[in-house]
Amino acid sequence: MNRNKEFPEGMVPLGAETFQFSCHAGVECFMSCCRNVDMFLYPYDIVRLKKCLRITSEEFMRQHTRLVKGNNLYFPAVMLKLNDDVEKSCPFLGSGGCSVYHDRPSACRTYPLERAVDRTLSLGRCKDYYFLTDHSYCLGHQEDNFYSVTQWIREQNLDEYNRINDRWAELDTLFATNPWRGEGSGGPKQQMAFMVCYDVDGFRTLAFREKILEQFHLSKEQKRNIQTDDIALLLFGFDWLKLFLTGNSSLERR
Ligand code: SF4
Ligand code: SF4
Repeated sequence: MNRNKEFPEGMVPLGAETFQFSCHAGVECFMSCCRNVDMFLYPYDIVRLKKCLRITSEEFMRQHTRLVKGNNLYFPAVMLKLNDDVEKSCPFLGSGGCSVYHDRPSACRTYPLERAVDRTLSLGRCKDYYFLTDHSYCLGHQEDNFYSVTQWIREQNLDEYNRINDRWAELDTLFATNPWRGEGSGGPKQQMAFMVCYDVDGFRTLAFREKILEQFHLSKEQKRNIQTDDIALLLFGFDWLKLFLTGNSSLERR
């Protein structure tokens, strides 16, 4: 089988074979990739980081992010704001390494791999592919450790990130269809969608004020989870947005 046929020339997805890599404090390049780095942040990254830093999602967004025009013409992308110094360091880089290591963003976990998801439903489901990056400054490729993709996913706890990022990507695909109708980008609907995705604490306040949970058939356990757990609230918010924008979602109105 030619695993290469769906990808641009030169891009070969990894299969079951192993790749050579290790990153640790002993490599000469240690922490060099945490400077001058262009990093997109996704909703789940924000939830993990703001909790780690013990600040609200609104504070996190204000202090640590900037909005840019990404691939989606109808929804802004969120990037990590780097320190305003000569090295343009990641704000979470401490003297001994990453100060938010347990909650580091998806991109930091996935590196040196890159993940692509095929959403053409010809197989009835999505399929993901991993590619090995090779930056000359990264000496981790010369270390004597070998991983399969499966081992890397397990070691980096990527399953949870991928699961929620895939739900987010579905929504981002919907946003790319310009569902804001006549309002255009930056209108009230888009602002609402942005809050649900990137300001989970703000959405919690809105959900309680407007009694949003009461409008749906939810078990006591589901309600309790949504009320107390940021991730459950985020995923509820994704479904709620889908309903709000398309009239379809797994949520059932009372
Ligand atoms: S450049 Fe590569 S080996 Fe060096 S610190 Fe970054 S990921 Fe690790
Ligand atoms: S979050 Fe941590 S691992 Fe990622 S760039 Fe910043 S310091 Fe490096």
